[in-house]
Amino acid sequence: MYNLSFIRADFPILSRQVYGRPLVYLDNGATTQKPLCVLDAMRDEYLNVNANVHRGVHYLSQQATDLHEAARETVRAFINARSTNEIVFTRGTTEGINLIASSFCEALMQPGDEVIVSEMEHHSNIVPWQLQAARRGIALKVIPINDRGELLLEEMDALFTPRTRLISIAHVSNVLGTVNPIAEIVRRAHSHGVPVLVDGAQSAPHFQVDMQALDCDFFTFSGHKTYGPTGVGVLYGKEEWLDRLPPYQGGGEMIETVAFEKTTFAALPFKFEAGTPDYIATHGLAKALDYLTRLGMNNIERHEQELTNYCTQQLKAIDGMRLFGEAEHKDAVVSFLLRDIHHLDMGTLLDRLGIAVRTGHHCAQPLMTRLKVSGTVRASFGLYNTREEVDALVEGIRRVETMF
Ligand code: PLP
Repeated sequence: MYNLSFIRADFPILSRQVYGRPLVYLDNGATTQKPLCVLDAMRDEYLNVNANVHRGVHYLSQQATDLHEAARETVRAFINARSTNEIVFTRGTTEGINLIASSFCEALMQPGDEVIVSEMEHHSNIVPWQLQAARRGIALKVIPINDRGELLLEEMDALFTPRTRLISIAHVSNVLGTVNPIAEIVRRAHSHGVPVLVDGAQSAPHFQVDMQALDCDFFTFSGHKTYGPTGVGVLYGKEEWLDRLPPYQGGGEMIETVAFEKTTFAALPFKFEAGTPDYIATHGLAKALDYLTRLGMNNIERHEQELTNYCTQQLKAIDGMRLFGEAEHKDAVVSFLLRDIHHLDMGTLLDRLGIAVRTGHHCAQPLMTRLKVSGTVRASFGLYNTREEVDALVEGIRRVETMF
């Protein structure tokens, strides 16, 4: 049973006011708010358990280690991975992509080898590859999109060459809301023997992601966009691939034996987790994923889909409205510009009405170039948003319009 007033009571921040008005938080694509169960669990661990993990024989250390490793199992189940060996804790999506870019290129790519990305990527799925292009001479190829904001899959097919080594692609665009057909992309890539890395920053919080159904080779997402704490994220990788990759960073925790002559590395997943992990945050993340599972990812998806459709309808009724991203399969994001009102002006004035939206290029400047705009206004929905909040946004936009 999806009861919004019960759900909102789990997020006290949603009841606060800004500028003397009720907060309408529509910036969930940037980060989500945290339910009390996450905050309570983290506070409780600091108060009663805190000790470094994996190292101590003492009671607290073992208890903290148990919580940390239980969190890994919670993540495994949440994304339906085969084994906890496939779950690497990172700082977030960005670090997950950087890890693969660095280790994959080091071990498995030669100068002139190619990585395919798309025109709708977040900078965090562009710049790590550009760094590798500069360091190792790899080349970047780009899948174009159509005017609705959908990938042109036939054009993707034409990008494969004998030098293609990897596709790295967003599951859901943070600007357009487009849900990319990952299973189909994986099927096509695998027919060329090419593995696929999926940027799941904007999918994992919104609908069920199933590693075995998608059959992708790597998948990464951020805790803070998934109702969990900042500073923690997840990189999933099929064991057969992770086994072939060298460590990303060196230090404690990731070794088996160290001597000045030779060091051997720990087994998966620890080989990729140098140093003390943010074990309080992994515990918090597990509580967030439990919370999502209790609500039901299908219920969350249905609710957010209704909000997105409702908001799209309402915005389309405003004269001079331009919507960006009208893919057939799209998710919890609505990007727009109204007449010639600058996105920053719209965002600033909406803020004064208590409405938090995002403005600017959304870390997707190549996409802005494709859309021929300097930025957009973006409302992004979370599991706790309401139709009344969509109404407040629409009314706010109409008020801003009267000021110009
Ligand atoms: N990828 C996408 C599609 C995103 O929307 C974001 C964040 O907005 C990221 C990657 C980067 O996530 P993080 O900053 O949590 O690493």
